This record gives sequence, C-alpha cells and structure tokens, in this order.
Amino acid sequence: MVFFCVDIGGTNTLIGMGNGDFEVKKKLSSGRFLETPLETLDSMLDQEGYSRSDVDSTAVAVAGPMDKDKRVFYPPNIDTESVDLSILGKMGELRLVNDCTSAALGEYHYGEHDSQHMVYVTVSSGVGAGMISDGDVVSGSNGNFAEVGHMTVGDRLACGCGGQGHWEAYCSGNNLPSMASELFGVEAEDAREIFDRAESGDPEAKKVIEKFRSVNSRAVSEITTLYNPDLIVFGGAVSINHEQYLPDPENVDSVNRAPRIEKCSLGEESVIHGLRAVCNDKMYPD
Ligand SMILES: [Zn+2]
Repeated sequence: MVFFCVDIGGTNTLIGMGNGDFEVKKKLSSGRFLETPLETLDSMLDQEGYSRSDVDSTAVAVAGPMDKDKRVFYPPNIDTESVDLSILGKMGELRLVNDCTSAALGEYHYGEHDSQHMVYVTVSSGVGAGMISDGDVVSGSNGNFAEVGHMTVGDRLACGCGGQGHWEAYCSGNNLPSMASELFGVEAEDAREIFDRAESGDPEAKKVIEKFRSVNSRAVSEITTLYNPDLIVFGGAVSINHEQYLPDPENVDSVNRAPRIEKCSLGEESVIHGLRAVCNDKMYPD
C-alpha cells in the first residue's frame, strides 16, 4: 500500500509518496496541478508500478481557508474562487489539513526541535500559524485554527481581508512593499528589494525593517499571552531567507514567559512532512 501527500501552496504544489519510507517526488505549479489532479497522481502511480487500488490514503494541505465538510477550499493566491477537492477521494481515504497545522506537525515530528507546546508561524506571501499542544494538534471547529495573520497588532494599515491593522498587512511578503510606501514613503518592487536595501545600509529601508520587526515582536507577544508555547518556529519564505530578522525572545512582552524562537528545520518541506505524519497516523485531523 502507498499514500500520497499533496501540499497545494499559493504558487507551487509538492507531491510526496510513501509506503513506510517517504519521498517528495514532484513539484509543479498549483495552477497546473489543479487542472488535472487525478491524472497527475495516476501517472505517478504508473511510474512506480502501482494502481489506484494500492492507495491507502491521500492527505492534502491547502494554502487558504477551507470547508472540510464540503471538501472545498478557497485559494487566495490562485486565479479561481473555490476548488472542489472531493475528486481526490478516489485515491484512498482523503484527509484535508490546514497548511500551517500541517507544517506544525511536520516540524514537530520530523524537525530538529525539542518542544511539547509549539506554535509554528509562517511569514511568506501571507502570515498564518499552527499549534501542537502536549503532542496534539489544535485544529479549530472547521479546520481553520490560528488565522494569526488577521490579529490586530498595528493601527491603520488596510488588510486584504477588509480589516485594519492586521499582522499580515504589515509583515507578509506580499504586503511589505505597501507598508513601506504608506508609512515611510519607500517605493520598492518587492519585499526582497527592501531587505536588500536595508542590508546595504539604506536608512529608509532600515526603518521599514525596524517596523517589520517591532510588529512581529508584538504579534509574538500576543501569541505568547494567548497560547503559552515553549517554542515558536518560524517558517515561510520571508523567515527562511531573512532569519537574521526573526523576533528576539528578549522583545516579548507578555504575562507569560517568553518562548524560544527557532527557524524551521525542514525549509519548504515542513507542510508535506506534516502530511506524512497524518498518513502515518501520528495525528488524525478531525
Ligand atoms: Zn486581515
């Protein structure tokens, strides 16, 4: 028997296959995967000498809000309103997991951390989180636990969700340029340019990064107060590429003790290894 792990990200989809051992086998654009999902998995089975009847389960993580009962998700970064994933039920038992919850599981079971109460935070195109408490995943009533990117930790900046002052409006890779422009009059093509300019000593870009860090610290303080983790793991492209700017536990201001803060160990594969944990029955996301 084999299992499939499918991480449908905002840009790319990673697909892994396992039968005890586990390997990430394929990376393609999410748009392309969603055009012909079954055919893609069928051809992978064919290559390995399996058929659909050999598939025990398929775990899928999605980057966006979902309705687990309807098996539908609403991708914020792909050019379609909703995606019906029930077709993947033809590949064994289908299990849907929030991508940040899955990343938390991946880092917990296969990363190099030592924690019993771990929050995983991604700072990439958006901001989100997942949590493991006492070894159990916290998933929320419909699988959307910890939309921390929409916590109010700033003041006036407008967020893509329609709210104001949300973490994501200040610190996500997609929103950093508009934060820089609105608050500091700094115009940049993308987040990378702002980080590069700050690194080379541009004083205005440095102010933007200082704001990025102070908002991140405030958000980490709120997470510490609410969830009392012993560790916060930061992942996502912005955290991975700019780890020197991860929040410092010394700047955590909370009634609870400051957690340790570490970078993810599994890079872009945190999510898919969480799905591997799900398929190996290390967690069943009800
Ligand atoms: Zn928001």
